Amino acid sequence: MLDRTHNTPALPPEIARRRTFAIISHPDAGKTTLTEKFLLYGGAIQMAGQVRAKGEARRSRSDFMQMEKDRGISVSASAMSFEFRDFWFNLVDTPGHSDFSEDTYRTLTAVDAAIMVIDGAKGVESQTRKLFEVCRLRDLPILTFCNKMDRESRDTFDIIDEIQENLAIDVTPASWPIGMGREFVGAYDLLHDRLEIMDRADRNVKAESIKIAGLDDPKIAEHVPAHLLEKLREEVEMARALLPPFDRQAFLDGTLTPIWFGSAINSFGVQELMDGIGEFGPAPQLRPAQERQVSADESKVSGFVFKVQANMDPKHRDRVAFVRLCSGHFLRGMKLTHVRSGKAMAISNPVMFLANERELTEDAWAGDIIGIPNHGQLRIGDALTEGEALHFTGIPSFAPELLQAVRVTDPMKAKHLEKALTQFAEEGAAKLFKPMIGSGWIVGVVGQLQFDVLQSRIELEYGIPVRFEPTQFTSARWVAGPRDKLEAFVKGNRGHMAEDHDGDPVYMTRLQWDIDRVGRDYPELKLTATKEMM
Ligand code: GDP
Repeated sequence: MLDRTHNTPALPPEIARRRTFAIISHPDAGKTTLTEKFLLYGGAIQMAGQVRAKGEARRSRSDFMQMEKDRGISVSASAMSFEFRDFWFNLVDTPGHSDFSEDTYRTLTAVDAAIMVIDGAKGVESQTRKLFEVCRLRDLPILTFCNKMDRESRDTFDIIDEIQENLAIDVTPASWPIGMGREFVGAYDLLHDRLEIMDRADRNVKAESIKIAGLDDPKIAEHVPAHLLEKLREEVEMARALLPPFDRQAFLDGTLTPIWFGSAINSFGVQELMDGIGEFGPAPQLRPAQERQVSADESKVSGFVFKVQANMDPKHRDRVAFVRLCSGHFLRGMKLTHVRSGKAMAISNPVMFLANERELTEDAWAGDIIGIPNHGQLRIGDALTEGEALHFTGIPSFAPELLQAVRVTDPMKAKHLEKALTQFAEEGAAKLFKPMIGSGWIVGVVGQLQFDVLQSRIELEYGIPVRFEPTQFTSARWVAGPRDKLEAFVKGNRGHMAEDHDGDPVYMTRLQWDIDRVGRDYPELKLTATKEMM
């Protein structure tokens, strides 16, 4: 496990003030609304509604986006940066649907903390749990936001119990809701002894914050009706007796999550949550590489690609590699070593996303996410450094569980298909296999929905109508080993062999028996269900 404390105090101020995080939630819990309010408070947008409005303008252009809307999923992830008080926030968006978990897993390798949003009426839902487990694998610190308290919600203790039991993590209340549904008036801030009163009249107004001297302060009665106040006093007393107090180290270790209660749509509780991220952190953390751990305060720049997004702007057909900077102070124009190829790359057009607008950036610090437009040189897992051969670890690659052949319905367009497929393979959206015998392509994915999205994107972005069909194969294994053995194996199994988009050999079959047989007949060869991305 990483030691999350040792490098924090010594960080240069520009790095120490950075907070790089993601929001995890089940669809509909309020992630988009919360993001919007973050940007609003970060001064990155002027009016709530802009993120959505933009999203919708973009979506309405396409069937693919229509599909995204119909199914209530968000598949286009990006990173947004904004200032809040003394802090610089980098919010990395994660796609919500489970079929995109591959993308989400990689995104979560780029952040130092996560906010878990749950719906106060629904509690921990399936997708929340899955994403939480990913965070747990990396011991990520988690802040919890219980949303929609302006609607009928569950009992506060029930919600906390459910999180503790379902997710096996300690929960400490950072705030306590006062009333709920129509009676919801605000929350009591347990960490700072403040009363936060919600303004129902204007959704974009920040809550009124009233400093009080504990729950016996007579001032409270001016703001909270008597029956709610009595309940609040009782509940807070019980909570303080039964629930663990806030402990920064336990939070940083990922074993304790502070929970805030609020209503994103009413801008309530959001600022307190943002203050929590600022106050508790963490600042940019150590990053593991094969060679050593890389600390954010090292003077030399390093970073890794965790996401490649193509065709962000259909007019330009460009490709942006998202890089998490792990150390140093990056300046525009710097020449960095692309470790995989050993070549130098001048990074002349780095971009950052400020409120969804892509802007050229002159500099960036460890913890930041920068986008580097490129023509396909940069791939997921690639490292950029000032010369050192670093290989950052922990970027997962998933075994393709579903294989289908892709067919072009218009033969005139067949030759453009390869370009489209290669592009998506490099983006990490699918695995691509070219069988050695015959023509055509086989595509491997983790979830069925990915086929639908690919089909829509190929048509939309390349104008090629395609369909996916079952093949005779159901499993794919990468094959590695001594060259002569490998060649002999390929020769004897041509009907089962394909190359992936890097030209590496892949063995395909529908029988586990075949895979076992290869293991016995060719003990020098290694068959793996995933290909490490490094
Ligand atoms: P996402 O799918 O997690 O991104 O969720 P959205 O932010 O799109 O929100 C889902 C729905 O819940 C939308 O209709 C929002 O307007 C609504 N919503 C979000 N926050 C709140 C809230 O605090 N209270 C209520 N009543 N509705 C909310």
